[in-house]
Amino acid sequence: MNPAPETFRPEGASWQPTPDDPLAAFPGLLDCVHCGFCLEACPTYRVRREETESPRGRIALMRAALEGRLPEAEVRGPLERCVLCRACEPACPSSVPWGGLLERWRDRRGPGLAAPLLAVLPRRPLLRLLGLALRLLRALGLLGLAERFGPRRLRALAAAVPPGASGFHPSAGSLLPARPPARGRVRLHLGCIQAELLGGVLRDATRLLRAEGFDIEIPAQPSCCGALHAHSGAGARARELARRTHEAFPGEDPVIVLSAGCLAFLREQDPSFPAADPMVFLQRRGLRSSLQPLPERLAWDPPCHLQNVCREEAEAARLLEALPGVERVAHRGAELCCGAGGISFARQPALSGEVLADKVRALEEAGAEAVATGNAGCLLWLGAGLRRAGSACRAEHPVTTLARRLRERPGPDATRCGASRPGSGAG
Ligand code: SF4
Ligand code: SF4
Repeated sequence: MNPAPETFRPEGASWQPTPDDPLAAFPGLLDCVHCGFCLEACPTYRVRREETESPRGRIALMRAALEGRLPEAEVRGPLERCVLCRACEPACPSSVPWGGLLERWRDRRGPGLAAPLLAVLPRRPLLRLLGLALRLLRALGLLGLAERFGPRRLRALAAAVPPGASGFHPSAGSLLPARPPARGRVRLHLGCIQAELLGGVLRDATRLLRAEGFDIEIPAQPSCCGALHAHSGAGARARELARRTHEAFPGEDPVIVLSAGCLAFLREQDPSFPAADPMVFLQRRGLRSSLQPLPERLAWDPPCHLQNVCREEAEAARLLEALPGVERVAHRGAELCCGAGGISFARQPALSGEVLADKVRALEEAGAEAVATGNAGCLLWLGAGLRRAGSACRAEHPVTTLARRLRERPGPDATRCGASRPGSGAG
């Protein structure tokens, strides 16, 4: 692929594209000075070592296509294979807003093969049916067959459904009382796939927050916040779903969001929205529970969006490190994406699988017994990789890591939430 020489454009703050310039809809694209500081931050470049799989290469390809120097078909592959982890953004001295640029680019092509899934996520009855079907197929062993014999994309999707998956379906308007003395109120965001496959994580979160003295309100809310739509070329629908989610949580009480991808998206759409990561929230408020020491070699694999967009991973790490019995193990490339990238793992299973395999190797080398990560997609994909490798290490949400150490048990009012059945963790 040899793009023709770039059109001359004076770069810098004084130059702006005219409204009819195809680059006008991509502000910041020209700010790339080709320095390459982003290369080693990029998980796809780290496994392939090809310029076209790097942020710098993708920026050049996008620009070449927009300027008509390369046909769009030629740049599609590398731009599709970006997992949108956004690790290139904090690494970039020119502040190129790559995440927004790529989302705009994908909006031009639409959601493609992801359209059916994206249509289901915001429709609660259909989503629950999908969740039930996936749990049933897993319990009957049929997903195991799909994992072994299905086409590549189906294999990736099937692998991501964890054994023992459960749903969490509280009645809208549930209020779970704090263990006294109460010290505040939070609202709980349920998520889409999370509420269908990671119900144990949501139950761990409610148990933990109640033990920590927080009343938990679970208001009626859309079954999808739109984050996956934004990643997948359905920007208008994404913004509509984000607006509806914001409206479902009026007021200033913190909204606990267990998936960092949703957290970052909801905040970026409205910076005043009081969304909070549960570990960061508890680190700031201070833990008060009596915790039992559980000796464990624990790795922390911060979700990309907590790290690269919210930039709060250090606070979550401090809370985990302070847990009794935890021996924090450092694994190579902890700061890199696991390859999940929203639903990138299903769209691009080959490259996402290479990124995942490297992550699993790093966890094995470090001798981790458990790896904590606070994002539904990462939990599912990382869990799949560890299971496939026959690893003794398990993936779990940090709220599970913490809830496993609680001495307290929730009071009898826990049943008021109408949760489907007890359970814990993932992976
Ligand atoms: S978003 Fe992630 S995968 Fe995509 S170019 Fe940036 S660092 Fe690479
Ligand atoms: S770090 Fe920023 S300016 Fe440098 S090559 Fe990467 S995107 Fe371009």
